[in-house]
Amino acid sequence: MSTTIPSKRIKELSSLSGGAWEVFERSRELIDSGLDIIELSIGEHDTKTDQRVLDAMNRSALDGNTGYAPVKGNDNLRKEIAKRVSYHTKVETSFKNVIITPGGQAALFAAHLAVCDPGDIALYCDPYYATYPGTIKSVNAIPKTVQAMPENNFQLSESAIDAVATNAKSLLINSPNNPTGVVYTRQTLRGIAAACKRHNLWLISDEVYDTQVWHADHISPRSLDGMKERTIVIGSMSKSHAMTGSRIGWAIAPEELIEHMISLATHTTYGVPGFIQDAALYGLGLGKKFELEISEPFRRRQKIASQILSTQNILKLIPASGGMYFMLDVRRTGLNGVSFAKSLLEEQHIAVLPGESFGKSASGHIRIAMTVEDKIFVRAIEKIIKFSKNKKYQK
Ligand code: PMP
Repeated sequence: MSTTIPSKRIKELSSLSGGAWEVFERSRELIDSGLDIIELSIGEHDTKTDQRVLDAMNRSALDGNTGYAPVKGNDNLRKEIAKRVSYHTKVETSFKNVIITPGGQAALFAAHLAVCDPGDIALYCDPYYATYPGTIKSVNAIPKTVQAMPENNFQLSESAIDAVATNAKSLLINSPNNPTGVVYTRQTLRGIAAACKRHNLWLISDEVYDTQVWHADHISPRSLDGMKERTIVIGSMSKSHAMTGSRIGWAIAPEELIEHMISLATHTTYGVPGFIQDAALYGLGLGKKFELEISEPFRRRQKIASQILSTQNILKLIPASGGMYFMLDVRRTGLNGVSFAKSLLEEQHIAVLPGESFGKSASGHIRIAMTVEDKIFVRAIEKIIKFSKNKKYQK
């Protein structure tokens, strides 16, 4: 008798980047068993969504915005996002270029479904945010990495794209980058744009960390010559406004593509709750000052970490210009990222993620999320340094 089995495609999605995520699961086990673990592993702020944003959400729900909302998003929110993008990038953007989605993740999925047919090659940067290859596989496209190397400060080079782009359909990039905290320079983005034009690629530009940038400017590649017709920008309120659980983000793309993405949303998510959209509109209305308040702890902790780390030369700090994370090259301890992270968790009760969970080019590194209060953060960095010295001199 034949048995019913899940699709191959869905089975392939069930694990995030293989064994490296074991560290994350193990830290959860240790926490459940009652141990005090310092968690520097996931991208969740150590503050909650602002009370004013929650009040706006509550008011909207009590005013009756609890029914189906427009699938494409409320026009007032789409207009606000279009205005903001036009202002920051100087690219004229209409609300018709915007679709509201349940978080940046849903926008990443929709963008790939909108431009890739089954069997198409979809390129993505390495190091990468853990869901990228699975998102590409979920639309039946073939994921292929473009490596940004540590020797090049994790900037993505035009020649690396050229080397793999034949017959590819799209390229997914992420700046400010998770996991490295690196912000792509104008020169890097020009190279990416040139390669996209040369190989006729759609560029999917994940800019969910665009408000968390220091020592550099965030440049959206959609603003470069000839790019707005082939670029889909992914945005989100998760990181910029500490609204991870509200699930609200967007995609910005040529109008025709947005129309198709709206059809997709009709058949998948059916939009985002109206009271969440109203809260998002309120949050955006709090302006730049509020965004700076949200990003400030990460800017401050990045500085603290680099000061403490400058006192030693075993762990090499990857110079970061944004985001909620930074990376350390741990290879001088003689360990790779996975074994370093595993031992650090068992011996020091500090959870970080191995670079290996973010791709090949970040192997031998660990990613540290700067998401605990300063005092604990400082203690953790000091313990990590001590731990690395012990490992090196045990060899
Ligand atoms: N892109 C990147 C680079 C991320 O780090 C994340 C979340 N950690 C997302 C997209 C998805 O964010 P969300 O769905 O919460 O908007």
